[in-house]
Amino acid sequence: MTVYLIHFERRYKHAGHYLGYSSDLVSRIRAHRLGQGARLLQVVNDAGIRWFVVRIWDGGYDLEHALKARRNAPQLCPVCNPRQQVEMMSGTLGMSEDVSSSLDAWAFKEWLFRQEPGEVVGLADEPLVCPLSCWLGVVYGGQWQVNASWYRWRAGDGAFWQDWQALPPWAMTFVSVLGERYGCAPVFASQALELLGWVLVDVGSQGARQALNNMVFEEVS
Ligand SMILES: [Zn+2]
Repeated sequence: MTVYLIHFERRYKHAGHYLGYSSDLVSRIRAHRLGQGARLLQVVNDAGIRWFVVRIWDGGYDLEHALKARRNAPQLCPVCNPRQQVEMMSGTLGMSEDVSSSLDAWAFKEWLFRQEPGEVVGLADEPLVCPLSCWLGVVYGGQWQVNASWYRWRAGDGAFWQDWQALPPWAMTFVSVLGERYGCAPVFASQALELLGWVLVDVGSQGARQALNNMVFEEVS
């Protein structure tokens, strides 16, 4: 069983989050996308509000009930609560502080958020134009090369490449799953965001690992 927290890009009336639980998280999320299974998400979809799974826990009804009783979803949400982000970044994802330099997961997420959902943000398995390389190029300039475990930078065509640096764990997971899912195909902002959402939840929990392995990504229509 998995308890999951969904964050709405903007509020629907007073609601900004949805908390639920399921024995089959991926099927449940797919159902929510189709407006099935929860009235709130159906009306949120109808209102054109984008939403993301931002956190999951191993647990069922009892945990969901306990979390709901606290009536403080924003406190639990890593998007709404920056302190939660820091705890998740340094704890769950095993990120060291020095990694926050250029490859900041939340800055990347912010950037993806600002693109149109159907905008192509890169080619999955192409080191020079994968979504991470494209984002880094826009934010920091120059050319960026990102492979499975490393990344490096140069000022432009013909300039010398700087030394390779290790990707932080979240970026390694993101790049490898992206490559597996899409090969060299174009990746839309909505797809990259969806995947990043999964990567940024508790990757240590079994539910999240299963979800990552089984995830079927939404088609953009
Ligand atoms: Zn939130």
